[in-house]
Amino acid sequence: MIQIVHEPFALTRNLAVIALTLIGATIVVTEKSNASRFTPAKLAIVKGRLDDEISAIIDLLQGYAERNQKFADSVLRGSDELAKASTPDRLRSAIEFLISENQKMLKETEAYQASLRNSRDQISKLRFELAEKQAETQKDTLTSAYNRRYFDAKLTNILADANRRASAVSLILADLDHFKSINDEHGHLVGDEVLKMFADQMQKHARAEDTVARFGGEEFAVILPHTSVETAVAIAEKMRRWLHGNNWKIAGKPQAQKITASFGVAQSRPNDTPAELISRADSCLYASKSSGRNRVTPGGV
Ligand code: GH3
Ligand code: MG
Ligand code: MG
Repeated sequence: MIQIVHEPFALTRNLAVIALTLIGATIVVTEKSNASRFTPAKLAIVKGRLDDEISAIIDLLQGYAERNQKFADSVLRGSDELAKASTPDRLRSAIEFLISENQKMLKETEAYQASLRNSRDQISKLRFELAEKQAETQKDTLTSAYNRRYFDAKLTNILADANRRASAVSLILADLDHFKSINDEHGHLVGDEVLKMFADQMQKHARAEDTVARFGGEEFAVILPHTSVETAVAIAEKMRRWLHGNNWKIAGKPQAQKITASFGVAQSRPNDTPAELISRADSCLYASKSSGRNRVTPGGV
């Protein structure tokens, strides 16, 4: 098991661990986290169950239609008997026949309705499961941030919407500093844990309406709809400060580790394309890297 411990007060290791546990910032990797990961096979299973349920309903309705036809035939027969009834006995038996057919049909209708209700409940459950599984296909499996494909589609939509409403979208690009050396010094699995921690923190610092995505490798992006570059910079600055303000303890290593990230922030211009906005945010990120890292660089509006 790998453990990265967050030491916010940079005191002794034990004190830090206690403090951390209190603020809930201890990251523990468990094997379990991968067990419930999405697989395309799971999606296919839910889709298959949905298909089965729909086929069952079609069968049910077909059965119901056939029964209805039989019922109509017997009612016709009953009414024929009624018309022809020449004695009170024949009249009574024709009426009794009609009443009993009607009761049979009522019972069957109730049973069909119960089956349909049951199927409807099953379908709504399956639809919910399907929506959940589909949402998982939009997420990066390591960090649970949105994946690049989702990011591309979302940015295109949000930008189109902003262009229509003459509103602005801001984009934050964040890249962990010297991440390769974290991998080299502590191993790839620790690197993975750092990525998860960073994605979680980006998510916590972003607002509900923002979209946090893994842009690639150790780079993350945040789409901020209806947001000026100043507000986006303030959010990026909070992320940067939080990360830099903490020390991290890697299990088995005596030295506390500093982890920092560089940020580039750009605001959309009228009729910007996603590529143009990304490119400006990327230039700002590059400026943060080349001017010493661990900083936020805003782009011009
Ligand atoms: P800079 O400050 O200039 O950004 O330097 P850097 O070391 O962060 O950047 P560089 O591009 O040299 O290295 C990025 C590293 O990120 C290399 C790659 O192996 C690592 N990486 C990419 N994806 C993953 C991942 O999913 N897990 C882990 N552990 N490492 C990853
Ligand atoms: Mg990097
Ligand atoms: Mg990078």
